[in-house]
Amino acid sequence: MPNRRIKPSHIHTNIHEIDYKALWESGVRILCFDVDNTLGLMHCDEFDQKIDELLRNLIAFGFRIAFATNSTKNRDNLREQYNAILCQPQRINRFVKRPHKPQRAFYSLLQALLGSPAPRTAAMIGDKLNADVLAAERCGFVGILVNPLGSDLWIERALFFRRLENRRLRQHGIVRAS
Ligand SMILES: [Mg+2]
Repeated sequence: MPNRRIKPSHIHTNIHEIDYKALWESGVRILCFDVDNTLGLMHCDEFDQKIDELLRNLIAFGFRIAFATNSTKNRDNLREQYNAILCQPQRINRFVKRPHKPQRAFYSLLQALLGSPAPRTAAMIGDKLNADVLAAERCGFVGILVNPLGSDLWIERALFFRRLENRRLRQHGIVRAS
């Protein structure tokens, strides 16, 4: 079998550019969003009005919404606001090893929380190529890459995270939306 290089199914500048109707028509019923730098800035407490409206419109359209995050910050407010599924294993105890993106165990947990959806019926949308998109694609999600809304954690900046990611993008022949 050829060793097919996994790529994002879709690439957009931001979540507003995604063709949700086409996703629905392709069979996607669950939209899983990364939070930090995808829906808001790092550690944001709430989303701007445009994003809030989009999420509510998607729910009204029929999508189920999930938030899949490595954050340790309490995100219960998001679960309540959007009647969403929240996958946030890191929050339980940051000092105990818990599954996190891009680990397969994280996506297995997410799938369990979603009720084990059929492959390609759930999409994962995020700003990080590997953690949010390629790892999700490997686990049967439709991976959608968007550009980060702001700067990363200081530790990621110190470790030149985006420079390494850019190298990986080039290696995979993937071009971010501009
Ligand atoms: Mg992010």
